[in-house]
Amino acid sequence: MKKISRPSLKEAEMAVKTLIAWAGDNPDREGLLETPKRVVNAYREFFAGYDADPEKILGKTFEEVEGYDDIVLLRNMRMESHCEHHMVPFVGKAHIAYIPDKKIVGISKIARLLDVYAKRLQTQETMTAQIADTINKVLKPRGVAVLIDAKHQCMTTRGIHKINTSTITKRVTGLFKTDSQMEQKFLAMINLREPC
Ligand SMILES: [Zn+2]
Repeated sequence: MKKISRPSLKEAEMAVKTLIAWAGDNPDREGLLETPKRVVNAYREFFAGYDADPEKILGKTFEEVEGYDDIVLLRNMRMESHCEHHMVPFVGKAHIAYIPDKKIVGISKIARLLDVYAKRLQTQETMTAQIADTINKVLKPRGVAVLIDAKHQCMTTRGIHKINTSTITKRVTGLFKTDSQMEQKFLAMINLREPC
């Protein structure tokens, strides 16, 4: 990703003040005085993923797993991200599976990989692809399957107001792609019986 130069903390706080005024409120009234500071701090947390290198997270692998060669699935991981179109949250679940080819990675590293991509401005489609492709590239497993099921606040709280709609995105590689039974197995394991 191209390096961009970051504005100063002060400049970021001023930008929040401008948005408060744009919303129609007075940024200098008591209740809002500390808000720019809080928003900027929240942004640090929401977008912490820009400061991490996703490939490095998966760097440490293990080979002593008694020949384990079946699916490793992390199911129902909570994911929180922000859509790049409206900068509002989309929140849901991620299911990430891979079939190792000797190399295994600590399961918490997979969860961390999800967070690094989620804590950026995203589209669900891009994020799904990035997670699958990074695992594929670094671990070179026999297959990767990533499925994300999330609700987008830009659809539920504004615009089209479709409250109960969730969006499902999926990326499969390797055996999950070439062997439809493996894909079915993945979907059954996460409890989605039909292909999406
Ligand atoms: Zn959006």
